[in-house]
Amino acid sequence: ATFGSLSDRLTQTFSALRTKGKLSPADVDKTVREIRRALLDADVALTVVKDFTATVRERALGDEVSRALNPAQQVVQIVNEELVTILGGQQRRLEFAKNPPTVIMLAGLQGAGKTTLAGKLAKWLKAQGHTPLLVAADLQRPNAVTQLQVVGEQAGAAVFAPEPGNGVGDPVRVAKDAIVHARSRQHDVVIVDTAGRLGVDAELMKQAAGIRTAVDPDEVLFVIDAMIGQDAVSTALAFQEGVDFTGVVLSKLDGDARGGAALSVASVTGRPIMFASTGEGLDDFEPFHPDRMASRILDLGDILSLIEQAQKAFDEEESRAVAEKFATDSFTLEDFLAQMQQLKKMGSIKGMLGMLPGARGMREQLDNFDESELTRTEAIIQSMTLAERRMPKLLNGSRRLRIARGSGTTVTEVNALVNRFEQAAKMMKTVAKGGMPNIPGMQQM
Ligand code: GDP
Repeated sequence: ATFGSLSDRLTQTFSALRTKGKLSPADVDKTVREIRRALLDADVALTVVKDFTATVRERALGDEVSRALNPAQQVVQIVNEELVTILGGQQRRLEFAKNPPTVIMLAGLQGAGKTTLAGKLAKWLKAQGHTPLLVAADLQRPNAVTQLQVVGEQAGAAVFAPEPGNGVGDPVRVAKDAIVHARSRQHDVVIVDTAGRLGVDAELMKQAAGIRTAVDPDEVLFVIDAMIGQDAVSTALAFQEGVDFTGVVLSKLDGDARGGAALSVASVTGRPIMFASTGEGLDDFEPFHPDRMASRILDLGDILSLIEQAQKAFDEEESRAVAEKFATDSFTLEDFLAQMQQLKKMGSIKGMLGMLPGARGMREQLDNFDESELTRTEAIIQSMTLAERRMPKLLNGSRRLRIARGSGTTVTEVNALVNRFEQAAKMMKTVAKGGMPNIPGMQQM
C-alpha cells in the first residue's frame, strides 16, 4: 500500500530509539539521517525533505526533548507534528458559494482520476443533501462524455453534456451553458470535468485556464495520481502556473505508490490536499485529514477514520446502542457477529483493519487477508452457545475444542478470534469513554 515502505522505515527508526533513555546529539543525527533517507526513497521532493529534516533536527536537539520524560517518544511526536505540517496542517473543507450554484472545476493530467472523482464527489455531495450536476467539458477523449454519463448514473447525479452539433468541440461554451442550466434546474453544485493530456502541454493549460475564466469556479481541484512519483512536483507546479487551483486531490492512494507525491505537493504549492481517492469504486474516497494521514504513516493508528467509516455502515440508533455497550463493557461476541455481518456489506474490511494502531506490524497478514476469512469467523461464533457468546470468559479449553470442531476450524483460530475480540472491545471502550464527539449519543458519556 501507499506509504508502506516509508512507514516501515520510520517505525523501524523509532523502535531503535525507544530502547534509549536519553538521546545524545549523535542519536539525533542518526535518526534524522534515517528519516531523510526514508523520505527520499519514498520519492518525496528534495526541497521538502531538506526543510523537514532540518526542522526535526533542530527541535529534537532542543529543550522539549532533553526535558521530556521519554525523549524517544517526544521525537516521534515532533516528527508527527512536522508531518502534519507538510501535509497542509488543518483539514480544509469545500467552500460553498453564497449564491448557488457552487462551481467546482477539476483539472489534471489524463488518467489522473478526474472523471472518477467527479462521480465520487457527486455521490458524496448528494449524501449531504446537495443536488450536484456533472458537466462533461472533456471533449478531447472520444468516450469521456459517455464515461461521465456512466459515473453520473452510478452516483445518481444528472449529467450535462453538449447536444450533438451544438457546442461540440467547445468546452468553454459547454461549461458556460451548464451553469445556466444548473441555475434553471436548481442544482446547487456544478462539477466541471475537464480534459487532460498525457503530459503537461501549453494547449491543455490554455483550455483549462479558458474554462476557469469562463465559469469563475469557487474551487479548482487539481487531481494528481499518487503513483506518478518524482514527477508530482513539476506537474503540480505547471498546473499551478497554468491554471492555478484551490485544492489538491490525491488519487490512487490504494496503489503501491511510495507516497512522495502526497508528501510533496501540499508543501511545494502551498495548496491544501482536500480529498483522497483510494480505489475505483465511488465510495473509495474521503476528505483528507493531514493529522490522520500522519498518524497512519507513523503507524499511530487512525481511530477517528475508523469510527467515521463504521458510522457510515451503521445507522444512528444502532451506533448509539453499540456505543452504550462498549462504554458499559457489555459488548458481546454476539454483537460482534452482528457487526461483522453489517461490515461485510461495507466492502473493504482490509482497509478498516489497516487503520488500527500497530497495523503496520501485521501488514503481511493484512495483505493476505482474505475476506472469506469472515465466513470462518462467523462460523466460529455461530458454533458457540449463546451463553458463550455473551460471556467469552466461559471459553475454557474443552469448549474451544468443541467450537473448533463445530466450525471446521482449529483451536488456534478460535483463540485468535477471542483475543482479537477482547482487544477490540478494550480499545473501543477507551474510545467510548474518551467521548469521541463523532459517534451519535456518545457526548453524554
Ligand atoms: P481522468 O482521465 O483524469 O478522467 O481519469 P479517470 O477518472 O478516467 O481514471 C483513470 C483510471 O484510473 C480509471 O481506470 C479509473 O478507474 C482509475 N482510478 C481513478 N481513481 C482511482 C483510485 O483512487 N484508485 C484506483 N486504483 N484507480 C483509480
